[in-house]
Amino acid sequence: MDDELLYMSAPGKINLFLKVTGKRPDNYHTLESLFVPLSSPADDIAIDLAAAPGTITVGSSDIMLPGGMGNIAGRAAELWSKRACVMPHWDINIVKNIPVAAGMGGGSSDAAAVLKLLNDHAGKPLDDRSLAETALELGADVPFFLKPEPAMMSGIGEIAEDLDFVLPEMNLLLLAPQFPVSAAEGYRLMLPGTVSPLAPGLKTDLLNALRTADLEKISALIFNDLQPGVFNKYPILEILAQRMTQAGAMRVLMTGSGPTLFGIFADSKSRAQAQSELQAAYPEYRIIPAEF
Ligand code: ATP
Repeated sequence: MDDELLYMSAPGKINLFLKVTGKRPDNYHTLESLFVPLSSPADDIAIDLAAAPGTITVGSSDIMLPGGMGNIAGRAAELWSKRACVMPHWDINIVKNIPVAAGMGGGSSDAAAVLKLLNDHAGKPLDDRSLAETALELGADVPFFLKPEPAMMSGIGEIAEDLDFVLPEMNLLLLAPQFPVSAAEGYRLMLPGTVSPLAPGLKTDLLNALRTADLEKISALIFNDLQPGVFNKYPILEILAQRMTQAGAMRVLMTGSGPTLFGIFADSKSRAQAQSELQAAYPEYRIIPAEF
């Protein structure tokens, strides 16, 4: 039985909007944000159970990513083995499709997939609550990926409020420039005066716009508090956002701490046209549809 291979797809995410609402004494920022998981791009996670007893290895299709405990997937496996009191024997392999350090939560999603795979295979020695606590120890965004459904997130990103309606299909195009921005840098670059509570009524307005699939209104209401600071440091992002708007996007916004941009398009035809136009103009960048 233990020569089995466990497999799971680990979704990426975008932040449809992101408000930084405060800073805790431990220096973590609190936020309010609508997290939307994506079926594509997603990473492929495989765990080979035939590894030598006591070992955890991590290999990835991205040679720049660390292996072993340098990789958050390895740390997830190690932490789960301690919490669940199970001797590790796992070779983890990751096919990396989610851009790295790009505001799409790829590492967090990989970690959550490893926790779920190991816990499910062992017959759930950790209940949902302990698994969520274990996830939070690995990172603020990891619990979201244990049950990746569109959700209003608050706290440091660990408190989820599910939507009471199905998110409308939107034609989103991602543009991922080939340079990393870490979450720490994104927050450090934040402009003075950014931290404030979410304007009263804005969440309700946005939820209503989403409920009624009003793309114009959604486009007008969404924002990302981390974007102005990151755009200041990397002016190419402003140029890329303008270019995407010229290519037909109703609205372009950065996701998370960037630098990935997403554009909202009226339909799949205009999205496809913009994709080929932008890819021709920027062959070095990844320009890919985001699928829900
Ligand atoms: P978030 O939006 O949650 O801030 P991100 O998309 O900006 O995440 P990640 O791609 O999750 O950032 O990774 C950030 C850093 O973590 C990278 O610098 C990378 O070297 C390191 N890392 C370790 N393991 C992984 C992994 N499995 N996938 C991606 N990055 C990893």
